[in-house]
Amino acid sequence: MKGSKVLRENLLAILTMAGVGAGVALGFGLRARESPWSPRDVLYVKYVGELFLRMLKALILPLIVSSLVAAVGSLDLSLSRKIGIRAIVYYMVTTIMAVVLGIILVTSIRPGRSGPPDDVVDVQARSRETTTADTLMDLVRNLVPPNLLEATMKTYQTVLIPPEDPVERNNTHKNDWRVKGEFSDGTNILGLVAFSVVLGVTLGGLKEKGKPLLDMFVALSEAMMVITGWVVWISPVGVCFLIAGQLVEEKDISERFKSLGLYFGTVMAGLIIHGLITLPIIYTVFTKKLPFRFLANMSQAMVTAFGTASSSATLPVTMECLESKNHVDPRVSRFVLPIGATINMDGTALYEAVAAIWIAQMHGKPMDVGSIIGISIASTAAAIGAAGIPQAGLVTMVMVLNIIGLPAEYVSYVVPVDWLLDRFRTMINVLGDSIGAGLVYHMSKADLDDIGSGASDTEESSPGDSRTDVSVIEHKHQQAFS
Ligand code: ASP
Repeated sequence: MKGSKVLRENLLAILTMAGVGAGVALGFGLRARESPWSPRDVLYVKYVGELFLRMLKALILPLIVSSLVAAVGSLDLSLSRKIGIRAIVYYMVTTIMAVVLGIILVTSIRPGRSGPPDDVVDVQARSRETTTADTLMDLVRNLVPPNLLEATMKTYQTVLIPPEDPVERNNTHKNDWRVKGEFSDGTNILGLVAFSVVLGVTLGGLKEKGKPLLDMFVALSEAMMVITGWVVWISPVGVCFLIAGQLVEEKDISERFKSLGLYFGTVMAGLIIHGLITLPIIYTVFTKKLPFRFLANMSQAMVTAFGTASSSATLPVTMECLESKNHVDPRVSRFVLPIGATINMDGTALYEAVAAIWIAQMHGKPMDVGSIIGISIASTAAAIGAAGIPQAGLVTMVMVLNIIGLPAEYVSYVVPVDWLLDRFRTMINVLGDSIGAGLVYHMSKADLDDIGSGASDTEESSPGDSRTDVSVIEHKHQQAFS
């Protein structure tokens, strides 16, 4: 009887995992029938997955803005500050731990000792020339968007224009190239997060006067969560076709792994250690609870992260799992998760460090203490700056390569296996955000109880309890105001 109950409660997660299995089988089956597939056929295979992804993406913007404003606005300033600081400290500490782990692994395994594989150098790099200073300044610039409507669609970036003459190009330093600023396609989530926090703090401070607008954001965030509840039921099919489409699209998979296997294995070892050992231990040490149930309750979010390769697209599902299954107070989850999904990427940070050192090893570049420290800082910044979208880490890696004096084109080395590594590192990114939210909730429980009744007495339900208490945040925010 117990077995059937567990099955019923976890039906969606089980179906989604079956979707992954079916996607892999379908992908390889289709490859066996015909290879390579034409771009149009790939398009057809991907179609259903694409629709699922579009639905999730449609939720990101309203969910992030409304959740942050509602959560921050319903806390008093000192409590939001406390929760915010706890979350940021957790993000920094775990990201640095991930980077250090990556560096230890890559310097002891030395995956780049046999030199560069010759079959990947021709892969087209998806990189642009920038200096580290430009990338860091862009990160801060994007925190302050000049136009909020534009921020929903465009992100600012500095572009360097090299001299047209190739000789002059080679003889001048990048710092002397012409600098241009431009807005490129892609939501500036960082800017919207920053503004939402400011708006939430302001509305909370306005008390009664701010209440109508705050109520609107509370209602919007609840509505987004209800829609999320519907969309997640499409995940089994969506994830299946996303994965099948990707497999059909990839060229000679086994060849890629032959030459990049050691690098792939090093990143994977780091991700597994960080996700299955480091983070759960941190959870257990601080909450004095075993992490298994908490992790099992997050399985739907994990599979969605694997299927979509995007922590932003997974955000609605992560929130749903945390609130309805792990019973994290929405004032905490809706505050820290959107920020976490944007800046906290342990998997990406680890991978950036491993990849950069692997490339340096292949080119026989010695690593001194200064370079290792530089790589650690740059990998952390690159992970913060990477958007929660597929393969964003590939773009910010240019900065890490820059730090150790390697050209941006070398990013091409990691491209062949990046589509798969990206899925695994996104899972770790989402796991890091989830454990962070669980920890911050645990630490802030007493403070939250002081301003309103707790969401529930138990922090975790049995796996699969998918009740979403949509009235909780509303109720708490009423209480905070009364
Ligand atoms: N795809 C990752 C994420 O969304 C970012 C990356 O590492 O490329 O979390």
